[in-house]
Amino acid sequence: MKSFFIGLIVSLVGMQLVAQEREYVIVVHGGAGAMAGLENDQEKAAQYYAALDSALTIGDAILSKGGEGPQAVMAVINYFESNPLFNAGVGATCTIDGTFELDAAIMEGKDLSAGAVAGVKFIKHPIDAAYAVKTQTEHVMLAGEGADLFAKAKGLDTVEDNQYFATPKTMKWVEQLKKESKKNGTVGCVVLDKQGNLTAGTSTGGRFKKQWGRVGDAPIIGAGTYADNEGCAVSCTGHGEYYIRHVVAYNLSTRVKMLHQPIEKAADEIIFGELNSEAGNGGLIAVDKKGNIAMPFNSGGMHRGYLYKEKGKSTVTKAVGIGKTMKVLQK
Ligand code: ASP
Repeated sequence: MKSFFIGLIVSLVGMQLVAQEREYVIVVHGGAGAMAGLENDQEKAAQYYAALDSALTIGDAILSKGGEGPQAVMAVINYFESNPLFNAGVGATCTIDGTFELDAAIMEGKDLSAGAVAGVKFIKHPIDAAYAVKTQTEHVMLAGEGADLFAKAKGLDTVEDNQYFATPKTMKWVEQLKKESKKNGTVGCVVLDKQGNLTAGTSTGGRFKKQWGRVGDAPIIGAGTYADNEGCAVSCTGHGEYYIRHVVAYNLSTRVKMLHQPIEKAADEIIFGELNSEAGNGGLIAVDKKGNIAMPFNSGGMHRGYLYKEKGKSTVTKAVGIGKTMKVLQK
C-alpha cells in the first residue's frame, strides 16, 4: 500500500513535469550529414558550437521580449545565410555547373500562411524573399527569375553577381565537381513564441552537384518545411528527394495532430522507420504548441541547438550539438 502511494506521488510529480508548458522555445539546425571527425576537430567544432549559440541568442533576444515567431525565425536564418559555415546564402553549395541556386520557405502555424522561393540566384537572404511572398502576394511559391525580379521590385537586398555566394571552400568544390563532396549545412529554425504560435523556416543551397533547375524539399511546404499550431513546426535537412516523397514535415505535423503521437516518437518513426541513412539520410527539428521538441537524425551528425524558457523561471536552458551528444551551455 505504502509503495502504491509513493508510486502515485512519483507519477503525479512526473505528470506535472511533463505538463509544464514552456513559455517560448527556439530550435535551430545547420544541416545534417556525415560530419566524420568534426566533433573531434576541436577548432572546427568550436566554430559550429559558437555559431549555433549565436543563432539561439539572436532568437532569444526577440522571443524574450514578446517578438513573434516569424521575426525570430527570419533573424536566425538571416544570420545563418550570412555565415559561410552553412549551406545557405553565402557558403551555399553549387549546381553541377558551378552556379548557386537557393531555396527557402517560411510558414506560420496560426493560419497556415506560407511563402517560399526556389532556385533564386540573386537574393542575398532567400528567407526574406520567402516571407515577402507570404505577406505580399497571393501565392505560396515563386521560382527562378520571377522570384529574383520580385525580390528586387520589393526592395530586398540583391546581388549583381551570382558568385557573391561563393567562398574559397565552394570554389574548391567547383574545381572538384567530379568528386564526392561532404557539404551539408542547410539551415532551419522552428519556434514557439510567447503568443503560443508556431513558425518554421528553412534555407538552403540544396544538394551538391545538383542539376540546375533542381528544387529540393526545403521550399516545398509539407516536405521540408511546415507549421500548424495544432500539430507542430518542422524544418528538415538531408536528401531532399526522399523528404519530398515522404512529405516529411507535413507527415510529422499530422501524426501529432491527428494521431496525437508525442512529437519525439512521431519524428523517430519517420526518420528511423519510413526513412533511413541510405534512403533519406538526414534529420529534422520540430516543436509543438506545448514546447516539446524533437531533433532526430539518421546521418552521422546534425548541427543543432535548442533554447527554451519554462513558465515562471527567469533563466533559459540552452544546448548545442553536432554528433550524438548535446553540449549544455546554460541550465
Ligand atoms: N534538404 C536539402 C535539399 O535536398 C539539402 C540538405 O539539407 O542538405 O535540397
